[in-house]
Amino acid sequence: MTDLEHTPVAIIGSGPAGLTAAIYTARANLKPILMHGPLPGGQLTTTTEVENFPGFPDGIQGPELMSLMEKQAVRFGATIRQELVTEVDLSVRPFRLTTPQKTLLCDSVIVATGATPRALGIPGEKELTGFGVSTCATCDGAFFRNEVIAVSGGGDSACEEAHFLTRFASKVYLIHRRDELRASKIMQDRVMNNPKIEILWNSVVTEVQGKRPEGVTALTLKNTLSGETSTLPCAALFVAIGHTPNSGLFRDTLTLDENGYIVPNPNSTTTSVPGVFVCGDVQDHVFRQAITAAGSGCMAAIEAERYLEGLGE
Ligand code: NDP
Repeated sequence: MTDLEHTPVAIIGSGPAGLTAAIYTARANLKPILMHGPLPGGQLTTTTEVENFPGFPDGIQGPELMSLMEKQAVRFGATIRQELVTEVDLSVRPFRLTTPQKTLLCDSVIVATGATPRALGIPGEKELTGFGVSTCATCDGAFFRNEVIAVSGGGDSACEEAHFLTRFASKVYLIHRRDELRASKIMQDRVMNNPKIEILWNSVVTEVQGKRPEGVTALTLKNTLSGETSTLPCAALFVAIGHTPNSGLFRDTLTLDENGYIVPNPNSTTTSVPGVFVCGDVQDHVFRQAITAAGSGCMAAIEAERYLEGLGE
């Protein structure tokens, strides 16, 4: 039998955006219920050391940072549950969120479902994530000073990451499966004019070599035209083949852009449905940082609080 429960604020997602929204709404005494899926803490729990989150001068492990945020939210009265939301009905008030366990009625929803970096799906990639394989140059680039680094992809993200990584690396290989970049002209020029970047055209990575905890030692490459394989010694692989925003639940109800990102109203976290707020990477394909996600989570919480005040909560 379905069990009904009611809350002023439901938060979906437990990355920095969702947990910051939980801290703020809990401190506003709104008793938020935060629900998350199988990866509590979001993308940061798949990284090792985080060196750019303010307040941690010596760095902090990603999972520890997320666990601290969770403790902080719980301390102020947030309820955090591992319950995957499988259905949302935003056409009724209160809104209805369905999980395999129950249906939750809520007056407002903060969507913080994040984005999933696309993976190559090759041997060694998953095993060495956090040990030389990364999807965030801003987060992990500085660990590879004076080393050879490879980037996979040919879009704006790959070019931006490759360019950024030349600050640290002795050399950056940009590995692209075709003979033409997808990136914008300006990004292409930046990459082509950077003497530290060499583009390996018509090439795909078929295996990441190395072991934990020592890290990546080389990549196995395959030429897409000749089928020839080769070995590229390097210390890191940055996979930049795009992200998939986790917006599927809202496909039919909120405004999404052509890449599936939820579109908030300008300078706001409000969405096309009053009472539904969005924060973090599910609405941000530009910055994608823990601190910007946390900042937008704070904004969503404040806007939700104001919305609920307007309802007379
Ligand atoms: P894109 O989808 O634009 O590019 C993905 C790249 O990865 C493509 O070159 C694609 O190859 C390649 N790729 C995809 N799957 C595989 C695979 N399995 N194996 C090997 N290569 C693969 O994603 P981005 O993240 O680069 O960009 C997403 C959006 O964000 C874009 O609209 C972009 O313009 C924007 N953006 C803007 C930035 C800025 O303005 N500063 C910075 C970063 C992103 P192929 O070309 O052959 O399809």
